Amino acid sequence: MSELPYSYEAPVSQALFDRASAVTPGGVNSPVRAFRAVGGTPRFMVSGTGPYLTDADGREYVDLVCSWGPMILGHAHPEVIAAVQDAVSRGTSFGTPGEGEVALAEEMVDRIGPLEQVRLVSSGTEATMSAIRLARGFTQRTKVIKFAGCYHGHVDSLLAAAGSGVATFALPDTPGVTGAQAGDTIVLPYNDLEAVQAAFRAHPGEIACVITEASPGNMGVVPPMPGFNQGLKDACALNGALYISDEVMTGFRTSPVSYTLEPDLMTFGKVMGGGFPAAAFGGRADVMAHLAPAGPVYQAGTLSGNPIATAAGLAQLRLLDDAAYAKVDDVSARIQALVSDSLAKEGVAHTVQNASNMFSVFFTDRPVRNYEDARAQESYRYTAFFHSLLANGVYLPPSSFESWFVSTAHDEQAVQRIADALPAAARAAAEATGT
Ligand SMILES: *Cc1c(COP(=O)(O)O)cnc(C)c1O
Repeated sequence: MSELPYSYEAPVSQALFDRASAVTPGGVNSPVRAFRAVGGTPRFMVSGTGPYLTDADGREYVDLVCSWGPMILGHAHPEVIAAVQDAVSRGTSFGTPGEGEVALAEEMVDRIGPLEQVRLVSSGTEATMSAIRLARGFTQRTKVIKFAGCYHGHVDSLLAAAGSGVATFALPDTPGVTGAQAGDTIVLPYNDLEAVQAAFRAHPGEIACVITEASPGNMGVVPPMPGFNQGLKDACALNGALYISDEVMTGFRTSPVSYTLEPDLMTFGKVMGGGFPAAAFGGRADVMAHLAPAGPVYQAGTLSGNPIATAAGLAQLRLLDDAAYAKVDDVSARIQALVSDSLAKEGVAHTVQNASNMFSVFFTDRPVRNYEDARAQESYRYTAFFHSLLANGVYLPPSSFESWFVSTAHDEQAVQRIADALPAAARAAAEATGT
């Protein structure tokens, strides 16, 4: 596919990408944006309104990425923008406490039962990094269980996603992460409770926590099998470890609250920041009491609780009532059905999986339960599907291992544009060859 002249379709984006590549590694500030998985020229976006993005060449797209989840009310929602303008007119950062961060924390704690206390940070990576440090400090243990295919940001110890077999110590996935940093991470196959129990048996008294995505969306959407999250919670409780539910993607996206019930610690980001860098971790008050300055586990941030980010996040959360989620769920279900129908018409093997309104399409006819299943799909079909939709004004995640996202702003017109573009994309997927 990389030989097709995609780059000629977006001359202004290509020129920007060339400039970017001269001053930034790979031309982007976050790797998936570079289109390496699908080839072609990454589109440089200049504006967004509602369900649409406009690129530097002046082309408009129905956006099915929504900034990887945060823009659940669509782009440039007037009430969020007004809250931001109001906040910014009073200054951008004080380095002191402020009421906005209290109000955002209260809104989160009010919504989520097990969230007794929260600490605000600036990215999901910081949230998971800090939650793990706190779990280790609280339990005075070193080892962490994570699942292959789950992404928790670029925390050194959590970039160990490789490794196979029960309780195999992970090798780092990336140069720059040392064996010492990854050596205390145990990587297990997702949806495999027996592997978790075996790891606890093999390392009695050593496991500080299990961290899992509440419902994974970073290997495509792979929901937990019935009882899996409960099984993790029970195994942790039985063995004196903390259960950390990473809700950076699912939190306030899949429902007014969160995806899992009663973890010890949770992490948040994406939707709660309203499109700004705001994230959080929190949970049991007795665990959070170990965090500085209340307790000995250090954690800090110059821009933590930033007044503009908290104003945006709070404005967005306050607009997210049951009616808003019903709307997102409904439009998501309709798009899922349209995608599946179009692929079925062309005889393309596929599986659409969802966790409420988060969904993705795997090019395989078998259910995908873990990372190994996800990797067995025919990703080359996604490449063809992606580029056909892109050419016809629909912007999908530039990788087959990502969730798709919609918003309350995805209206009839946006759905119709997707419906109009799908038949050609399904045909392109059917005709794609793996070599
Ligand atoms: C996006 C994501 C992160 C990382 O958040 P950043 O803000 O990109 O650092 C962590 N965990 C999950 C589940 C995510 O989806």
